[in-house]
Amino acid sequence: MTPAQQQLVAAVLERFGPKAVTTDSDAIAPWQSDWRGRYHGNAPALLSPGSTAEVAEIIRLAGALGVRIVPQGGNTGMVGGATPPADGSALLLSLRRMNRIRSIDPAGNIAVVEAGVILANLHAATAEQGRRFPLTLGAKGSATIGGLVSTNAGGTQVLRFGNMRQLVAGLEVVLPDGSIHDGLSPLKKDNRGYDLTQLLIGAEGTIGVVTAATLRLYPAVLERAAAWVGIANPEDALKMLRMMEARTTTIESFEIIPGEVLGHVLDHIPGTRAPLAGQHAWHVLIESVATEAGLEPPAALLERLLAPAFESGLAEDAVISTSESQVEAFWHIRDSISEAERAQGPAMQHDISVPVDRMPAFMLSAAAEAERRFPGTHATAFGHLGDGNVHFHVRAPAGMDRETWYAGDGPAVSRLVYDLVVAAGGSISAEHGIGQMKRAELERLSPPARIAALKAIKMALDPQGILNPGKLVSLAPEAGTP
Ligand SMILES: Cc1cc2nc3c(=O)[nH]c(=O)nc-3n(C[C@H](O)[C@H](O)[C@H](O)COP(=O)(O)OP(=O)(O)OC[C@H]3O[C@@H](n4cnc5c(N)ncnc54)[C@H](O)[C@@H]3O)c2cc1C
Repeated sequence: MTPAQQQLVAAVLERFGPKAVTTDSDAIAPWQSDWRGRYHGNAPALLSPGSTAEVAEIIRLAGALGVRIVPQGGNTGMVGGATPPADGSALLLSLRRMNRIRSIDPAGNIAVVEAGVILANLHAATAEQGRRFPLTLGAKGSATIGGLVSTNAGGTQVLRFGNMRQLVAGLEVVLPDGSIHDGLSPLKKDNRGYDLTQLLIGAEGTIGVVTAATLRLYPAVLERAAAWVGIANPEDALKMLRMMEARTTTIESFEIIPGEVLGHVLDHIPGTRAPLAGQHAWHVLIESVATEAGLEPPAALLERLLAPAFESGLAEDAVISTSESQVEAFWHIRDSISEAERAQGPAMQHDISVPVDRMPAFMLSAAAEAERRFPGTHATAFGHLGDGNVHFHVRAPAGMDRETWYAGDGPAVSRLVYDLVVAAGGSISAEHGIGQMKRAELERLSPPARIAALKAIKMALDPQGILNPGKLVSLAPEAGTP
């Protein structure tokens, strides 16, 4: 630990007690590597404030002492954003102790929650009040509100409700100078210039520490149903989605899953079963929900929507859930894909988006191009087709170990994929963010005006480079950093 880090740790211990600090390397170890096991850092201490005032004091002291800080929630991020630098030059700041739901207003459809609240706990608490926070994703048992805000997370219900940008009505944030920006008031109209809330959403902890958020709620789900449909190709999936969207606005999710990826889930995730008896090249998982009594039940709606898909030959086979546990079983398959793919072996994974109508062609042509340019690799894509966002994986040639792949062709494969994405008018990060994984690619592929603006914002708010060094944008060459 540097003398400045020691001073900060001693001050936090003295002011906020032992709960707020750990220097035990065994206790810190799980928080130093990312969920995918790609990045490994080293933080000499983990600070765990219990209140917004404590966060503000820690950040103020960090600035005064020149100590860098990496904010962290559930550590489920996919781009190494919450992993500290390997050289021990930053301390971790965990928001997990700040896990209070401050209020739920069912009439106003608003909840005010602290950054450390775990998403699944918010789901349970809002359900008790007849309300729902609609964003959900596979990491819901660990991901925190602060992390979800800071990565502008998406998930499986974006089709209907949007991502965090649409679901956050206000934020409380400690800025890099230790001041507190209180923007929790859920104003419908607010034209006081730059929108700080939107600026801080997706900022990946580089220009502020989110301590609480005001979130939009919706009526609780009365009933839901899901259909698992076998199809021939992504083009047919998109045609089916368009056909359904022309007939209803209640489709919440439309996820595409290749047959081989389903196979990986069945191989690696205990207790999973194939929803359909036959083999299909591709599958889609569609969910519909009812939030009002007296309307067409979701299962009946799905049946009605699937009828023309069968008539036109888009659907090969389908099963519609008959119980909540069957819906859960379908989603368990979908939510387990990341884990199954991790178990399947090394792959370069790309969270990318292109305009929805171009996605089917992109999925096939980009996979063919990657396999042609890197013989022995195998490319596939799955995910949020309805949002024009898939997770595009290029698997290493058989038998190649992870480190050889990452140090060898892996980065060149990613550059190819991102070039193809940009050529298709897309984004190299649809929902996971930039973190440390995509920083160089962001710089390589962004128009200079965009990069200059991002750096100017970082420089204006965090000129010392205190918050989350080496993530998203860097102040070249780490200018002004302590
Ligand atoms: C199985 C699985 C499935 C997933 N599915 C999806 C998906 O469908 N859609 C999707 O968008 N993501 C998905 N993710 C990614 C991940 O869950 C999200 O990025 C999530 O928002 C991260 O939350 P976290 O609390 O774990 O944040 P962390 O991983 O701890 O941090 C993520 C980033 O946010 C910053 N940060 C964390 N807390 C704060 C704070 N309070 N203030 C400021 N900065 C902060 C960190 O510094 C880091 O840059 C998935 C992850 C897993 C493991």
